Amino acid sequence: MGLLDIFKKSPASCDLPIIGVAESACPHCNTLLQRKPAKKTKCPQCGKFIYVRTRPQDQLKVLVTEQQADLLEEQWSIIKGTHEAYLAEKQKIQAERARLAKLFRAAPSENDIKWGLLGKGAMEHAVNGNWGFYRNARLQMAEVLRKESKLKQALSFYCWVCYLDLNGPRNTSGMKDQELLREFPPFHLKKDFLRLALSVG
Ligand SMILES: [Zn+2]
Repeated sequence: MGLLDIFKKSPASCDLPIIGVAESACPHCNTLLQRKPAKKTKCPQCGKFIYVRTRPQDQLKVLVTEQQADLLEEQWSIIKGTHEAYLAEKQKIQAERARLAKLFRAAPSENDIKWGLLGKGAMEHAVNGNWGFYRNARLQMAEVLRKESKLKQALSFYCWVCYLDLNGPRNTSGMKDQELLREFPPFHLKKDFLRLALSVG
């Protein structure tokens, strides 16, 4: 079933407001743009960021502000039936934002929040024996560091991910049964141990 079919079958979608500019115009200042952008770009007139998203109601690519992009993400979650998970994630972000603001005595950056949540998530995955998810969180942390040009620190995280990959991490979902763990260990060294799952986006 395609997303449009899900939309048509979702009664909640009827009440959702139509968001975004379908034409080639800035959603902030309405200036006509020479070409409709295909990805996030800055408006040459007002200098604000323009985001490109798919609108659920008609599947059109529309130009939106950052706030509208969040609203569209929420609309999609309502249509796909994942609204509760969406709200829970938003709540987590808000709690981390408040925690860091108290700690720093200043507003944290989006990257600070992402970093904090990834670190917490990694710890939870480790406690639950989900070493595959742990590895994914560490890779995302490496990416945060790379994007902030903290290359030495990023390299150490990438090396850590390589080390984990070489040992074949698995998710054991908090399993404590020793017999099952012997059969399905949290790390399973593959014969082809030189093949790394690492791919840097
Ligand atoms: Zn503009």
